[in-house]
Amino acid sequence: MAIVPHATTRVTPDLTLPIDLPTVELRARLEALAYTRADLVEMYGGAAEYSRSILEEHERVLRRELARRERLYRAGADVPDPRDARWDVWLGLAREARERADIVQVLADAGHQVYDTGGYSRRRDAREYAGPCPWCGGRDRFRVWRGRDSGYWCRRCGVAGDVIALVRNLIPGCEGFLSAVAYLARELGLSLPDDPATMPTRHVVRLRAVEVRRVAS
Ligand SMILES: [Zn+2]
Repeated sequence: MAIVPHATTRVTPDLTLPIDLPTVELRARLEALAYTRADLVEMYGGAAEYSRSILEEHERVLRRELARRERLYRAGADVPDPRDARWDVWLGLAREARERADIVQVLADAGHQVYDTGGYSRRRDAREYAGPCPWCGGRDRFRVWRGRDSGYWCRRCGVAGDVIALVRNLIPGCEGFLSAVAYLARELGLSLPDDPATMPTRHVVRLRAVEVRRVAS
C-alpha cells in the first residue's frame, strides 16, 4: 500500500501547503514553523496576525499528515518509517543551516537586495532588513531578520518562513528540501551525508550554485 498524496491543501488563495512531501521535509518544516510562528507577532504585532494564522494552519496540517504516516507505518502498511534515523543527519544539517546561514546573502545570490533598517530583535539577536518582496514587490514590505534562526515575512502577501524555505523558493535547482539544505551546507562548508539513498544530485546543486553567483555579480 503506497501513500496516496492528498490534494494540495488550500489554506488561502495564494499560500498553499503541499502535503505530499518527503517525511524528512515534513519534520523539518514543523521545526521551522514552530519558531517562525512564535516570533512573528512578537516582532511585528497585529500586522503579522494573518501570517501567524496561516502558519498555525500549516502546522496543524503537517502534524495531521505526520500522524497519519505514523499510523500507517505502525499498522504494517508498506510505507517508509517516518522516524527513520537515516534522516536525522539531514534534520541536523537543516538546523545548523537555519542557525548559521546568512539569509541576506541568500537573497543577494537570488538577485534581491534588502537594506538594514536599523531595527534589532533582542530575542533573536538579529538585525532587521527590508526591501521589495520577491513575490509581490513594493518598496519595504518584505522584512528579513538576519541572525540566529533568521527568517522573512511580507506584510502585504503574508509569506513567511526560514532560510531553507527561501532557498527552495528563490534559488534555481534547489526547489527540493534536500537540495536546499545541501546548497546551504555547501555555503557553510558542512559535509553532506554519504548515504547515496538520501543524496540530492550533487552535480546539479554545485552547477546551480555557480550559475546563481554569476547572475548576482
Ligand atoms: Zn509579498
